[in-house]
Amino acid sequence: MEILHVSAECYPVAKAGGLGDVVGSLPRFQAEKGHTAAVVMPMYRTPYLYTHEWEVVHKSSANLGHWFFDYTVIKEKTGAQGFPLYLLDINGLLDREKVYGYEDDTERFCAFQIAVVHWLTSWEQLPDVVHVHDHHAGLIPFMMQHCYAFKRLQYVKTVLTIHNAQYQGAFGWDKTTYIPHWDSWKRGLLEWEGQINPLASAIKCCWKVTTVSNTYMNELKSMSNGLEPLFEYEKGKCSGILNGIDYEVWDPNKDKYIQDHFTQANVDEGKAKNKQLLCERFGLAFDKPLFIFIGRLVGEKGADLLPEVIKDSFAFIGRKMNFLVLGSGEKETETRLSGLRSIAQGDYAEYIGYNETLSHLMYAGADFLLMPSRVEPCGLNQLYAMRYGTIPLVRRTGGLLDTVVDMGDPGGYGIAFNHTAVGDITHSIYRAIGLYSEKQTFSSLRQKNMSLDFSWGKSADQYLSLYNSFD
Ligand code: ADP
Repeated sequence: MEILHVSAECYPVAKAGGLGDVVGSLPRFQAEKGHTAAVVMPMYRTPYLYTHEWEVVHKSSANLGHWFFDYTVIKEKTGAQGFPLYLLDINGLLDREKVYGYEDDTERFCAFQIAVVHWLTSWEQLPDVVHVHDHHAGLIPFMMQHCYAFKRLQYVKTVLTIHNAQYQGAFGWDKTTYIPHWDSWKRGLLEWEGQINPLASAIKCCWKVTTVSNTYMNELKSMSNGLEPLFEYEKGKCSGILNGIDYEVWDPNKDKYIQDHFTQANVDEGKAKNKQLLCERFGLAFDKPLFIFIGRLVGEKGADLLPEVIKDSFAFIGRKMNFLVLGSGEKETETRLSGLRSIAQGDYAEYIGYNETLSHLMYAGADFLLMPSRVEPCGLNQLYAMRYGTIPLVRRTGGLLDTVVDMGDPGGYGIAFNHTAVGDITHSIYRAIGLYSEKQTFSSLRQKNMSLDFSWGKSADQYLSLYNSFD
């Protein structure tokens, strides 16, 4: 089977969050199962571009409204990622340093999608499945099925995976000419609440829709930033497939970002060495349990509550623990987190920004990971944490509910709480400190976390059976 993944992110080429991790690993596991799974993504100016060799495979031009643009598709020459990797370059539009956050993101991703579909029409043999990820590729199924110029693609199967339904990429009908000529009576397939909504359009047009956990799929019917009735209506073609993690990249025994490797057998010593490094670097006390948070500092992740949680923990539990926060996002949260240093010197530190190397050291050296998310489609951090013997403290939502069993429940190995509320989070920190003081139980729970299997094997099979279910 031949699959083409279309995505805005793919690790290690460009990553802003979990989408990058998934698109950077799933195709390799599909390839290992004997399929051809390629990725096409925009060509940004990230270091990967300059450290790999490329060949030009296609050059052509297309239109975005009245704007005529040239595009080039290049392919990585050595197969370094374990699957064919294509970058699509549109001069001046896509070739920037960041993935998102520009005023013309609508134009950038519309042009990208038009060029992908345009390029596809030139393929001698079409792929069996075009698998689009999130709203940045959400207009592709509509274009393949309803734009006159792309009719050759209308029967190619399409799958949408939703990594985050909060972001939908909607824009006004004044930009309707961005979509190459189409049957105007198909307007309803583009629209949601008076706008052109790429995510809604993909849900309507794709043959199958998946999201990254079963619980999140159910939650979307009652909480999806306005798309609730659509998810209810289309539930027949929707299903949840849990993300796997890449055990090659995320392996405490050979992680290229950490110096002190460890396995289940020497987890306590191994983690202690990594913790020592972290504590020295951030001026934290080694003997106290270390709680970390890694992620976007946004309301979805419950990050706005962190300053309060940290203050309340010190006030009500005492200075018995350390906190280390890595992330960036909403300015107010960043400022409040930076402001904590002066009152919690020695027991608290933060790193505002994105730092892949530090994140690996934190998973390896921390005792506990905090994930008080309000919304969490799958969540990868808790899976990485468990792989490195770090006990997750999670809110029971989305993929967190599907992957973390509270230590008080049969077979449990983590700490779970019900609400993204300061009291609930602080109480679970209190429980974690109790666990930390019982050295034997703590150590065996670490080992248990490391023994859990969240690799891609099972999930990759589920995607393949989904593709096969079309026949
Ligand atoms: P998201 O909603 O952001 O996609 P996920 O849990 O699915 O959340 O994935 C987050 C990924 O991004 C993880 O690999 C995590 O380690 C990484 N990450 C998030 N913020 C940072 C940061 N500031 N520095 C390094 N890595 C980060």
